[in-house]
Amino acid sequence: MCGIVGFTGKRQAAPVLLDGLSKLEYRGYDSAGIAVRLGDKDTEIIKEKGKLKKLADKTDNGNAVKGCCGIGHTRWATHGEPSALNAHPHASDDENVIAVHNGIIENYQELKGKLVKSGYEFKSQTDTEVAVKLVDYYYKKYNGGPVDAIARAMYRIRGSYALCVMFKDYAGEIYTARKDSPMIIGIADGETYVASDVPAILKYTRNVYYIGNMEIARLEKGKVTFYNIDREEIIKELTEIKWDAESAEKGGYEHFMMKEIHEQSKVIKGTINSVVTNGKVHFDSVNLTDEEMQQIQQIYIVACGSAYHVGVAAQYVIEELTSLQVRVELASEFRYRKMKLSKNSLVIVISQSGETADTLAALREAKEQGVKTLAIVNVVGSSIAREADNVFYTLAGPEISVATTKAYSTQLIAGYLLALQFAKARNEIEEKRYKTLLAEINTIPEKVEKILQDKERIQWFANKLINIKDAFFIGRGIDYAIGMEGSLKLKEISYIHSEAYAAGELKHGPISLIEDGTIVISVVTQENLTEKTISNMVEVKSRGAHLMAVTTAGNYFIEDTAEFVSYVPKIDQLFAGSLSVVPLQLLGYYVSIGKGFDVDKPRNLAKSVTVE
Ligand code: GLU
Repeated sequence: MCGIVGFTGKRQAAPVLLDGLSKLEYRGYDSAGIAVRLGDKDTEIIKEKGKLKKLADKTDNGNAVKGCCGIGHTRWATHGEPSALNAHPHASDDENVIAVHNGIIENYQELKGKLVKSGYEFKSQTDTEVAVKLVDYYYKKYNGGPVDAIARAMYRIRGSYALCVMFKDYAGEIYTARKDSPMIIGIADGETYVASDVPAILKYTRNVYYIGNMEIARLEKGKVTFYNIDREEIIKELTEIKWDAESAEKGGYEHFMMKEIHEQSKVIKGTINSVVTNGKVHFDSVNLTDEEMQQIQQIYIVACGSAYHVGVAAQYVIEELTSLQVRVELASEFRYRKMKLSKNSLVIVISQSGETADTLAALREAKEQGVKTLAIVNVVGSSIAREADNVFYTLAGPEISVATTKAYSTQLIAGYLLALQFAKARNEIEEKRYKTLLAEINTIPEKVEKILQDKERIQWFANKLINIKDAFFIGRGIDYAIGMEGSLKLKEISYIHSEAYAAGELKHGPISLIEDGTIVISVVTQENLTEKTISNMVEVKSRGAHLMAVTTAGNYFIEDTAEFVSYVPKIDQLFAGSLSVVPLQLLGYYVSIGKGFDVDKPRNLAKSVTVE
């Protein structure tokens, strides 16, 4: 959530800050601001409620603001309404300390009370202003310099934060610190960048440092020094980002979401190839041995949102191929449940950003209980990737659109490959079936490509849904898991109320909502469940529902029941979800743009949910 960009170097800072922030817009925000050092002492602070464009217009895209060192922020308000006053940067009264912050200071009221007693006044309602003034307080009280003041404040602050701070006495320098909120530092010749996420700086450099939890960094032009919370200097390794800058741009598509839907085939292939060679799955990069896989008896898959839906689909696949028991848990619930995890279990957490606050907390809970952990993550070097025992990287590349498509699809692939490899390591699958299934997985990219050729038909159907108020998605087994994802896609970007039900649940309540004209979208790819789901479709149809179905080529009899059918190529039904989800992604996309919404940046949503 929110975005931070900082720059110190030889060129003008403001254009770099605005450009970087625009690359982080996808994360969601309600106001924006920048602070640029004009000379030795003065700083210009400009803040606006609303879109970044307002700042750009006001400053001639940043060109009107001189100065080569500055910090910028897009705010996603948690404490205090969205307004220019509450927008960041915030400053101490004498502008001795100026900072931007991502996250939440949980004990801000207690800290504010103390600062008020020491004579501080507060202008905004934000928790951030408290952090700024706390740093200022320690800076003046102990005279130990910026790192000392920040470290002292960190000891006192509870919550999550990524902070970028400028001090009046330290022109050309930016100080940063983080706890549970993402931040990376980029370095180029004579220039140093800091940002919440890679796309903000990819255009300028690929060489980055990952600043760890409870660490502090001092940024000078072309130089970074890291410190631990005890103010001792620490050494970090420089990492090269492999993503190309173009993949963070729209590349001819009208929206990131459509571009990312189209990239699925390529990134699925990349993800498969990262662990499959010569017809075999190799988990050396994941660091999970056959022996370990033999010992595990229970799997918990813990995630949020679409990643949770991946977990539900993966559960069916793992349970069918192995004797393992799988439980799928919502991270936000799991972290507060007093669940005693069984000894020989594996906790798999799934997160695109690797920064999802609840998932990270769930991972820590699992580790606390001494259970082995594996993360399926897209962003290299993210908190979850660093803290999990084992990591399976999805190679989706930067996903900008808030509604996930390609990251979801690569997570599914990771789930299949894990299931298959568990079955193999535990001798629970015959060699022939193993080979067949692996070959089937390899056909997914080309089949996804084929489905995309049918997108005009889906657009035609989507246009009929523009004015609906409600939609229901039904399916059984893996089809239910895909229905959940289809339903989330539709609701999150088109704001249409939508629910997914296991088809067999209809009779236990939801069917009472069906009336003339209600839209029901049914996913039917699981052979042994087809008849059952069709019965459910007939039931809702006889109560007036209009039906759409996503099914496998060959199931033409579905046209007797559904008014619109989207066919996906034949594939082993364990992996059908990778195909049936694509028409549903397209449906959500077309309904959203048909309604004239900003499909890449749906209201109230942020790309990576780094706060609870
Ligand atoms: N909690 C801070 C605020 O409300 C920062 C929010 C953010 O991460 O953008 O201002």
